[in-house]
Amino acid sequence: MAGAVLVINCGSSSIKYSLFDANASRTLADGIVERLGQAGSRHVHRSHAPGGDPEEIVQETPIPNHRTGVERIARRIEESSVEGGAIEIAAVGHRVAHGGSGFTGPAVIDDGVLARIAEFVHLAPLHMPANLTGIEITTALWPQALQVAVFDTAFHHTVPEHAYRYALPVDLADRHGVRRFGFHGTSHEHASKQAARMLGRPLSEVNVVVLHLGNGASACAVSGGRSLDTSMGMTPLEGLVMGTRSGDLDPGVVLQLAQADGLSVEEVERLLHRESGLKGLCGANDMRDIARRAAEGDGPAELALAVFSYRVRKYIGAYAAVLPVLDAVVFTGGIGENSAPVRDRACANLEHLGIRFDNAKNAAPNGEPRDISTDASLVKVLVIPANEELEIAQQTLRCLRDAP
Ligand code: ADP
Repeated sequence: MAGAVLVINCGSSSIKYSLFDANASRTLADGIVERLGQAGSRHVHRSHAPGGDPEEIVQETPIPNHRTGVERIARRIEESSVEGGAIEIAAVGHRVAHGGSGFTGPAVIDDGVLARIAEFVHLAPLHMPANLTGIEITTALWPQALQVAVFDTAFHHTVPEHAYRYALPVDLADRHGVRRFGFHGTSHEHASKQAARMLGRPLSEVNVVVLHLGNGASACAVSGGRSLDTSMGMTPLEGLVMGTRSGDLDPGVVLQLAQADGLSVEEVERLLHRESGLKGLCGANDMRDIARRAAEGDGPAELALAVFSYRVRKYIGAYAAVLPVLDAVVFTGGIGENSAPVRDRACANLEHLGIRFDNAKNAAPNGEPRDISTDASLVKVLVIPANEELEIAQQTLRCLRDAP
């Protein structure tokens, strides 16, 4: 098969990937290599034959690092043949966490682009080193393929200055590039396009609050397909409560921890990125466990669920005020798609915002895009499965078509 598009999403301890056909209209294969460098690492690969159930291969084997992980993925793809022919990779689309303010769309990777990307490593230290390793390895493995960087930050380049600027001395902030960039851009973009389709209106006329709730979580106010504001900031630490990240915090807390408790910069960084959020509140960061424990009356789990959902609710209100009108609230990401208790706590009793939440629709498990508001609700509440890989594939394909 000629001209397939491979999407690689190198996270800190996992690599997700999806292989699409030449039009990015069909997923040929996808999978994940997870728990890199830890006990229990494994590779799950699924081949999607047309019309049938995916065929899944699970291999539990030591996978020490990203290099070994990407090489395994490449081997698996090269071993599989689709409809009788060998797969030729025409382009590889890489999810890249940070593109600063310079990258406002996808970029074909060359030495200059790589050097510019390297400047942002310190702003997303959990993700960027892995992103760069992925690019390096796929470039060596498929030298003929176009390598494209699709940035989590790019969708937010339309955020106006009054929303991206922090109230710090302007010259100091500018000198250090301190401003809101925002992340999860491909997810917010995909969800808002899907929402417009579900509402049956052109994207240019639709105003939505998108809530991407996964291990990382962010809210975004999207007007006419353009990001007006988003909850993550210069780094992916600001905003909503996350699995292990604090989200919004009084900056005085950091000073207090550093001064009174004598924590080093590295210790504070570790605390805010890896030991806070849901994990800090109740010792667990998987929402499935937390919701189950809360339902059984576990106090810390109930508190974590309450703090998480309240923060989401607060941002719905804030972004309803940012948008000219509100057409829909959109839930996406592992928690947004699956956690009925979080959606309930975030959206129930918001009739004053035009939201009439339907408890029965919310509680019914369903993996499809759906509306969980009542028919009379002025503002729809939509659940839309995240598909960052498809968005990255489509953007990569556009670069491939535009390539000389
Ligand atoms: P990532 O940010 O790593 O891509 P995901 O979007 O996969 O994360 O979301 C991971 C989160 O989704 C975890 O907190 C997990 O508990 C939660 N999740 C997944 N399935 C469910 C479910 N059925 N009910 C509640 N939460 C779920």
